[in-house]
Amino acid sequence: MQENKIKVLVVEDEDPIRRFITLNLEGAGYKVGEAVSGEEALTLVDSFVPDVIVLDLMLPGMDGLEVCQKVRVNAPETFIIILTAKSQDSDKIMGLELGADDYMVKPFNPLELIARIKAMLRRRSRQAREQVYTYGSLRLDIAANKLYKNDLEVELTPTEFSLLKMFMENPGRALKRNDMLNAIWGEDYFGDTKTLDVHIRRLREKIEENPSEPEYIKTVWGSGYRWQLEADRRQP
Ligand code: CA
Repeated sequence: MQENKIKVLVVEDEDPIRRFITLNLEGAGYKVGEAVSGEEALTLVDSFVPDVIVLDLMLPGMDGLEVCQKVRVNAPETFIIILTAKSQDSDKIMGLELGADDYMVKPFNPLELIARIKAMLRRRSRQAREQVYTYGSLRLDIAANKLYKNDLEVELTPTEFSLLKMFMENPGRALKRNDMLNAIWGEDYFGDTKTLDVHIRRLREKIEENPSEPEYIKTVWGSGYRWQLEADRRQP
């Protein structure tokens, strides 16, 4: 991945600080989006789809902690760096507990912020290169095209493999039936979403201990499916 295509969303209501961060990030080659409130940040998480969010905790209206919590549910793969003042130590800890990846205490050196972002992205590209997902007793080896359950190979159809990969790449995220159909079968597929349900049922029979009480693939009623975050025991 080219680092100059990385997108960073800066969430800060104080104009001079936000502009200062943005200018520095743009100078480092990132594509930068700006939000002045938590509500605007969540909208941009959907439309701008940032790789990294630089999130001030002190915002009018919805505060940074709430934003952090919501991003973790809706876009779990996004990196979050929270910004705190020195006096807000408890907020910093709370932010990390709510799923922030890192924090910076204001005022900070923008070069240090850029160094932190680079470190996080290096971590991610290392994970991507490995291309092996491990969840509980399951291990999916993308390059070898194989699934192992408790170290025993499980035979998957190509469709089941694609579905499982999609789930493991989107842990905790509610995936809509239609989006899954489009992603796996293509935009021009006119099949019924029941087709998808059948594949999911077969996949559950292969990976779940008890397919009627799935531990991994949860049903999101009226919408689709979710790879359950509680089952996220991926190796670092
Ligand atoms: Ca602020």
